[in-house]
Amino acid sequence: MKLDILTIGDELLIGQTLNTNAQWIAVEMTRIGFEVRQQLTISDDEQIIFDSVDEALKNSDVVLITGGLGPTKDDLTLPVLNKFFGGELIENKEVYKDIERLILSRGFKMNQNNKNQALVSSACTPLRNEHGTAPGLWFEKEGKVVVAMPGVPYEMKAMLSDTVIPQLKEVYELPEIIHHMVYTQGLPESMLAELLEDWENSLPATIKLAYLPSPGRVKLRLSSIGLDRNKLQQDINFKVEELKKIIPDNIYSENEEDIQRVIGDLLRSKKLTVSTAESCTGGYIAHLITEIAGSSDYYLGSILSYANEVKINQLGVNADDIKKYGAVSQQVVKQMALGVKNNLKTDYALATSGIAGPTGGSDAKPVGTVWIAVATPNGVISEKFVFGKQRDINIQRASIAALGMLRREIK
Ligand code: ATP
Repeated sequence: MKLDILTIGDELLIGQTLNTNAQWIAVEMTRIGFEVRQQLTISDDEQIIFDSVDEALKNSDVVLITGGLGPTKDDLTLPVLNKFFGGELIENKEVYKDIERLILSRGFKMNQNNKNQALVSSACTPLRNEHGTAPGLWFEKEGKVVVAMPGVPYEMKAMLSDTVIPQLKEVYELPEIIHHMVYTQGLPESMLAELLEDWENSLPATIKLAYLPSPGRVKLRLSSIGLDRNKLQQDINFKVEELKKIIPDNIYSENEEDIQRVIGDLLRSKKLTVSTAESCTGGYIAHLITEIAGSSDYYLGSILSYANEVKINQLGVNADDIKKYGAVSQQVVKQMALGVKNNLKTDYALATSGIAGPTGGSDAKPVGTVWIAVATPNGVISEKFVFGKQRDINIQRASIAALGMLRREIK
């Protein structure tokens, strides 16, 4: 079932009001199995509203509209829909009583504007508005449905949840929708897409795949739509098992977005501890780890070793190695990890040293070069990365890469 969402109001177009209605409706309707074809935001203009409804109805089964139902001159949704569906505006006694009850309960008297709001199109069924004066409008034509709801978010939400969705479920047999997330780390989107090309091509037509990248990570969303929920889940599980074989080291979770939480659970379950020695990430890894409540179970602390003197004096890094290889080097980052592991007496330790940018790079070590080391109970491993030019993104990517290395080592 296809759905168009039409939000009406000049205040939305000029950015004065954030269009939260469209987002909220999209989430709710997707959840119950509608495919949102289009979200359109338009001005309070008779012709534009008319044409937009016309276009939406040609392509979608349902059109949900918010805004422009009020009693003032710029509220045009009712007259336009009335014209579109060929009705007449007549007073509706039930709606009048609802409005009167609401106005009196607020200690006011009915004025002309309030009375006008009881005028409803003869071509529609009015929907009760428990929280405001403008009723919703339900139109049906040739198996398609157009519903206009008030613009005020809490009025719209109550109407959609309590009335519109239950009624739509009576009109249409809605499919089941399943979204299954797979969280990956360590492969940029383009490389991941290349690796997964054959697997992606083998997905059944019922499963759609989306790549959702963020610094250092790519979320894969498998969505499936159909009538048999068990079958949908089975098909997805089968394809996810195949996926795990293609990128076994890069999937860190299927239900937890934060890799630091996944690591925390791993460390806690194995009764292991970790510490950090951060240079270019400036404490960001420590921040990510300690964001998780209860991280004191496994995280002991950090030596924020930004300056060479701190690397030498606090971590025991060899001063000659810094001179010979530079602070951003495999030799130094390994010593940093071992130094903090020994000092803080942890099972694991992470260290970073790099050029976050935007300046400070050279031909040999361009901006974005980051060395990361993980000290483990069995030794120390290290890896060089070359990220981009943007400082904040480099810090985030380096931190996630470090956590990714740590997770693989603990596993
Ligand atoms: P009412 O008669 O209750 O005023 P209405 O249908 O005429 O309802 P509008 O006048 O268009 O609604 O909007 C009322 C208020 O609701 C706006 O001032 C705005 O704050 C909010 N609003 C309208 N549309 C949206 C939207 N799409 N997203 C978030 N808020 C909205």
